[in-house]
Amino acid sequence: MTLTEPTTPDSPTTTPPPVPLVPSVLAQGLTVPKGFGDQSLLSPRPDAIRLLGGIPDPSALPLAELREALGEVWDAGGAAASLQYSGSHGFEGLRGWIAEREGVDPRRILITNGGMHGLSLTVQALVERGAVVAIDNPAYPLFLRTLELVGARTLPVPVEPDGLDVEHLARRLADGERIAAVYTVPDFHNPTQGTLSAAKRAALVELAARYGFVVIADDPYRELRFAGTDQGRRVFFDSEHVVHVNTFTKTLGPGLRLGWLVLPEHLVDVVLRLRNRQDSHSSTFVQTLVQHLLVTRPGWFDTTLGRARELYRHRAQLLVAELRTQLPGRFEVTEPEGGFFLWPRLVDDSVDTAALHKRASAEGIDYQQGEFFITGPGTDSARRLRLAYGDRTDAELRTAVGRLARAFG
Ligand code: PMP
Repeated sequence: MTLTEPTTPDSPTTTPPPVPLVPSVLAQGLTVPKGFGDQSLLSPRPDAIRLLGGIPDPSALPLAELREALGEVWDAGGAAASLQYSGSHGFEGLRGWIAEREGVDPRRILITNGGMHGLSLTVQALVERGAVVAIDNPAYPLFLRTLELVGARTLPVPVEPDGLDVEHLARRLADGERIAAVYTVPDFHNPTQGTLSAAKRAALVELAARYGFVVIADDPYRELRFAGTDQGRRVFFDSEHVVHVNTFTKTLGPGLRLGWLVLPEHLVDVVLRLRNRQDSHSSTFVQTLVQHLLVTRPGWFDTTLGRARELYRHRAQLLVAELRTQLPGRFEVTEPEGGFFLWPRLVDDSVDTAALHKRASAEGIDYQQGEFFITGPGTDSARRLRLAYGDRTDAELRTAVGRLARAFG
């Protein structure tokens, strides 16, 4: 047997051209923000006042308490466990605390990484690719982005001062339209500030049972009522057809990324299996601290909420008063009963809203134009502004309205 020399190429190896990585069709199809969330529309002024997002005020968030909680947990020997894996459902103590507050079986609670996570899990678990989802018109735009995950089509349903027009939906269903889900924000709607009436809640749940669709009730502002009457949540929790999506974002801080679903019992396992394939579980560390505060300080959450509601009530009233005094006759305004949004309507239909927004931006006030929330015809949203007051001081609100007044010229 003759040994042969390994052949060496006479010229250095040429590396083949790189094969480009192609993102999935799903990822390529995801849209970039237009209008809503578009940074290029922000005022260039460094002193611009932003009445933009549903953002809680830092003074209403538990900054000192979280520091204390960390010390207490550490002193009690809980540090090491807080950095370990934990169960997919979420902490038992946290689920139990939420379940008691909601008045439901703890097995129905799934801890999530905030509201958006709960929404996408729900959509992926319950909406078949290409199915129709009835949505608020106008709607919280980021929900539309979760629908891109399943290529859902939308059926816009007008939103009235007392929430989704359930009769409109009933007519569409009676006409043969079939939907997989309806999405609505029942309390202190984003952007329209109103609350779904008790009668409409009952009617919606009845429709869901009759036609076999899920109601996705997205309720992040529910705890922030500072006026008016609660319209009830029992009817949602008692239904096999409702997924209640909630979050600590507006009450304890969006950076925690902590929320929960109240699922009908028959959906718990399927949503859990889906969740297992995404992120395993919510942060053990965050759950440790939040659970510690909620469980070891009875009444603390309500005291925190009480202060927050007072603050937001004050700001809402101040903003309304400033609009009425600095811009008399310019807007139809309804005093909010909770949440973070004012949804004033321009009285004069000849006002060019795009031009107004441009001038306002030049004056140093940022707000969301109503048109960015529109999901279909039959809404006056284009004649409205969404003004978010949650994280703006009194002085900022006054100055912001003064700047808006100058923008009118
Ligand atoms: N739903 C609505 C209606 C919201 O306004 C928000 C926050 N802007 C969310 C969901 C998202 O909440 P999170 O930050 O907990 O994901």
